[in-house]
Amino acid sequence: MKAPLRVFFADLAHESYTGIYPAGLVFPLGIGCVASYAKMKFKDAVSFQLFRDPVKFSAEFLKAPPPIVGFSNINWALRLSYAYIERIKKLYPETIIILGGPNYPDKEPWKQLNFLESHPLVDFHVVGEGERAFCDLLEKIIEYGFNVKKLKENKIRIMGTHYTIGGSLTAGEKAPRISRDDNTPSPYLTGMFDEFFTGTYEPIVQFARGCPFSCTYCTEAQKYWNSVKRISLNRLEEELDYIAKRLPNKELTMHFADANMGMFKEDTDVFKIVADIQKKYGWPKRINASLGKNNPDNVLSAVSQLEYGSLWFSAAIQSADPEVLENIKRKNISTDKLIDAALRANEYNRGSNSEIILGLPGDSKKAHLFTVKSIVDAGISRVRMYVLAVFYGAELDHQDYREKFKLKTRFRILPRNFGNYEFNGDRFPVAEIGEIVVESSTMSYDDFAYCRYFDLSVEVFYNDHYFLEVKGFLNSLGISMFDFILKCHELTMEDMPKDLKEIYDSLHHNTESEMWNSIDELIQFIAGDGNLKEYEKREYENSLASLRAIGIWSCAESIHRIAEKSLKQLLIEKKINDEQLNLYVSEMIRFSLWRKNNLLETKMSYEDEYHFDFTALDKNGYNVNPLKHKLNNATKYRFWHEKEVEEEMLRLYSEKESHVVGLRWILFHSLGAKPANYYFRSFRVI
Ligand code: SF4
Repeated sequence: MKAPLRVFFADLAHESYTGIYPAGLVFPLGIGCVASYAKMKFKDAVSFQLFRDPVKFSAEFLKAPPPIVGFSNINWALRLSYAYIERIKKLYPETIIILGGPNYPDKEPWKQLNFLESHPLVDFHVVGEGERAFCDLLEKIIEYGFNVKKLKENKIRIMGTHYTIGGSLTAGEKAPRISRDDNTPSPYLTGMFDEFFTGTYEPIVQFARGCPFSCTYCTEAQKYWNSVKRISLNRLEEELDYIAKRLPNKELTMHFADANMGMFKEDTDVFKIVADIQKKYGWPKRINASLGKNNPDNVLSAVSQLEYGSLWFSAAIQSADPEVLENIKRKNISTDKLIDAALRANEYNRGSNSEIILGLPGDSKKAHLFTVKSIVDAGISRVRMYVLAVFYGAELDHQDYREKFKLKTRFRILPRNFGNYEFNGDRFPVAEIGEIVVESSTMSYDDFAYCRYFDLSVEVFYNDHYFLEVKGFLNSLGISMFDFILKCHELTMEDMPKDLKEIYDSLHHNTESEMWNSIDELIQFIAGDGNLKEYEKREYENSLASLRAIGIWSCAESIHRIAEKSLKQLLIEKKINDEQLNLYVSEMIRFSLWRKNNLLETKMSYEDEYHFDFTALDKNGYNVNPLKHKLNNATKYRFWHEKEVEEEMLRLYSEKESHVVGLRWILFHSLGAKPANYYFRSFRVI
């Protein structure tokens, strides 16, 4: 019998995912789906090996190089894949290299040609859905006896495949979408993923593929993806059961690759299946899913079936400004309904969550602050703030769209996506590059920078209801929490304490020095001796969440001092500068501080005296007039860490490789499993 044709598929992940402290590494779903589909078609004539880990990929490739290697083209791994492609082609120039994935220009042939010409070692690029297109391409390669040159010279059009020859582009039409019925094989059920059940890889499944929305910054908004194709519920149940039985580590998060979970009627049963799996196997304890943007009633009733706290509802509003929503084609998504749903989700989860993007077309300082205010005033407990990234394949990347909104961009290293690699004795650094919008027709660069610093203040003074005491107090006085954040931000900018200055300076350094004006400058920097090592030490500056973690764990005294000053100024401005309220503010701030100061010093306890009944106030979520809880005599309180909290914090912290990542990891756990205030000190009257 003829030996099968060996094909390697690599969806490589950078070393922060695969290295000594692997985290967030999901099963390679995309290549798994294509490989299992192709296996169904070519049966024993072809064998596939799938890779995520570059180290394993190098070793297996060098042991016995296959004639064909396919790489996923995702923006967080393109440069890594291409670095391997360069080295493979140097050693084995006959290897046929195929790239496939969403990180490829859409509609503009000149850009597609540019892309392929700047990656000349790629023989073919599969566009659109990979399953059928790859099979067609493979048939043609076999038909031409692996003679790529001849195939290209004949300018054979292959469905869903692009290539260049002699400086011109040959582009086959995208393949029709597959039905995803029960005849479409599953990479789990066919055993193709069995080797990934190591206890590190996190399972990812996809019930529905496609998205009916048209958000201009997203690659999935292309018309091609507008129809939604689902697998059957039976198939989903079988997949989850298969996974749960084999997963050696039941702490691993489960991911859904769907764009709008729970939005459609038929999705309600999906969560019922997940809930049954949770009951049967005690897994998944945490689910990562992008929930539906419309039909929140359906989404919520679907989510309500899950184990409490296992999935956090996120209102991905992106902006509350009507003009921005129109520009990005999200007018058909109701911001109000999304926020309402996020709040109602509190019944099923701890905390509520919203996502916004800074710099969208039409965005401005005013629109950004308005968006944050809308979320904070609604009572959402966490605002996640992102900068606007430009992706190939999104309308945002189209030249006419860029020009219409006068988008100006800079380039940066993608967080976590860099490292040092080795192939056949050759060691080389690689970092992925992202393009970020920093200016537009409605937003100056200075306003962009202002909003970034303001967003850090939202992280430090607001997120996760860090100041729940303040929130309740202001609520009882009819003052917006947003006014408090803004005041804290202004005071911080005016007179920054040394410790807080370090984290705001970090953001400043990141914004000014680690966003390059041209991609070539950044490429030169990455290649420079030792630059990436130096960058690695300050990588955390890229992330508001990391800076916030440092702030909360290390600068509590400064944060509380600014909060106190802000509150007292607000009382003056609102003309309620009453002596008793001022006393309450001082005591409330001290009370809050002892619960949150030096959190990692878990053995440290504090004692303090107050003239207010904080036990009663806490029971009411501080949402009452504090003067009603004034005490006649001062009462002494003690603050300490519960044993189980202390142990959990130290365990989480020790799981990570660096101080900053350890701190961020604890905060990350407050995303769903535990609310942030779980880690604060307990208190009681003594
Ligand atoms: S951002 Fe989300 S809702 Fe919008 S097109 Fe992309 S996947 Fe769909």
